[in-house]
Amino acid sequence: MNNPIASILDHYPALVIDGALATELERRGYDLKDSLWSAKILLEQPDAIKQLHYDYFKAGADCAITASYQATIEGFAKRGLNEKEAIALIQKSVKLANEARAEFWNDESNHAGRSKPFIAASIGPYGAFLADGSEYRGNYGLTKKELMDFHRPRVKALIEAGADILACETIPSLIEARAMAKLLKEFPNVMAWFSFSARDEKHISEGQVFADCVKQLEDQPQIVAIGINCTSPKYISSLIREAKKVTNKPILVYPNSGETYDATKHDWDGHPVYESFGEQAKEWYEAGARMIGGCCRTTPEDISVIASWVRNVA
Ligand SMILES: [Zn+2]
Repeated sequence: MNNPIASILDHYPALVIDGALATELERRGYDLKDSLWSAKILLEQPDAIKQLHYDYFKAGADCAITASYQATIEGFAKRGLNEKEAIALIQKSVKLANEARAEFWNDESNHAGRSKPFIAASIGPYGAFLADGSEYRGNYGLTKKELMDFHRPRVKALIEAGADILACETIPSLIEARAMAKLLKEFPNVMAWFSFSARDEKHISEGQVFADCVKQLEDQPQIVAIGINCTSPKYISSLIREAKKVTNKPILVYPNSGETYDATKHDWDGHPVYESFGEQAKEWYEAGARMIGGCCRTTPEDISVIASWVRNVA
């Protein structure tokens, strides 16, 4: 399998990740107040997801992160879907992103000054399946083997659906990262990016030192980029500098707007940290990040601001 990240970074100074999926669908009026979150729309209104992927490509994103973050066999089972139906729905997330990319790329006027986008299949953490905010805390009390068993069927389904790379994201704990890294070895031709959620300038959500986590994953060659997502933008520059000390892999960041998630209300509190997320993102490039986008509460407009400067930096 070729490395879609390296192919872009060989030609451009940085790569543009897309923005929020679930919160942007909410902003567009879809109802996601549900433990399945964006996976609910996958089930009920798939065209809305495809349209949003298309809009992010149009805004300048080099990749689409699929709507599989919260899509799991166990989660769908609670809705009465059997395993086969759940797998089909998980795979549909890749199909929708692929269709959006085909439509976008079939129009040659969209090719100017950029590479063909790739599809990154989202693997949310175990905490996302719990739907109680655990992805920002960790401490599930599960063993590495239990976590591998939880992630295996979805990883397999997403790979079989034709994703270009796996996006293992919002990982709150080192044990879950290690479980995913070990699981990845069962699929030796597959590449992944690993992205943690962080609680401050130095520590991931469960409390481990971010630089130590990065260091422990350094010798896993299938992990082709590493970084932070769904974390307040105010911690990002410091976290990039911490990672840079211990890794040669490209560093990725796609923070949220800085608002915080209230799991009991299924809603976001507070205000965005910066007036212009997209302009602020320049600071992350200067700190050493080479893949930049947005997570919850960011929009296609934010991504288009990032894309407008990313492809022009010297
Ligand atoms: Zn997020």
